[in-house]
Amino acid sequence: MGAKRIVIAIDGPSGSGKSTVARAVADGLGYLYIDSGAMYRVVALRVQEEGIAPEEGARVAECAARLTIKLEKRAQSIRVLVGDRDVTDAIRQPQVAQAASVVAAIPAVRALLVAQQQQMGAGGGIVMEGRDIGSVVFPRAELKIFLDASSEERARRRHQEQAEQGIESSLEKTQAEIRQRDQRDRERQVSPLVQAPDAVYLDATSLSAGEVADVIVCLAQKREQAAESALPA
Ligand code: C5P
Repeated sequence: MGAKRIVIAIDGPSGSGKSTVARAVADGLGYLYIDSGAMYRVVALRVQEEGIAPEEGARVAECAARLTIKLEKRAQSIRVLVGDRDVTDAIRQPQVAQAASVVAAIPAVRALLVAQQQQMGAGGGIVMEGRDIGSVVFPRAELKIFLDASSEERARRRHQEQAEQGIESSLEKTQAEIRQRDQRDRERQVSPLVQAPDAVYLDATSLSAGEVADVIVCLAQKREQAAESALPA
């Protein structure tokens, strides 16, 4: 019996290790990895470049509607393109992350990006990570994970990641930025960060990304089989 290629939704707060874990899970299963946060970051970057304040809902939505965002798999990495321009590194700046959580609270921006994300994952065989994947984008995903870690650990990881990318910041500043972004993500009116009722909660505070990925791959293989058995003969 073959296995059905399912949808895996990984949600959780900033710095919980979602990207590393989601990438490893996708590699392990031969699935496509989709970083939905990169799409909100692209909108934030373009808005900043056009001199639009991220709070200006109508102008931000109009700007977002003009963009063609692509997530392309290259040999070792996923490149984020807007039109033909590679913005993979530009969108990782801390100020873009902050602006992303502001534009992500605008309903019209969410509607636009959610529709694109649903299209990307329509065929299954994907691991998509974000804040509302299990609750809004794919409410019928076969496997939903809510990945968490202590706020100290999340700040430490994000700080280390930034240092590796050559972004200078103090641990205190990184911690404050994460706290602010999480609060905005959890308290916004549309699609706030919540654990879907049928999501598996994983606390990654004292687990490596590899260990978390192994747990998820195991769960996914069971769900693949269950989804296959549920198909009409
Ligand atoms: O995941 P990442 O930190 O790159 O996401 C940047 C911002 O985009 C988040 O702080 C959040 O405000 C927003 N986001 C969202 N919904 C998603 C993914 C990201 O609102 N599915």
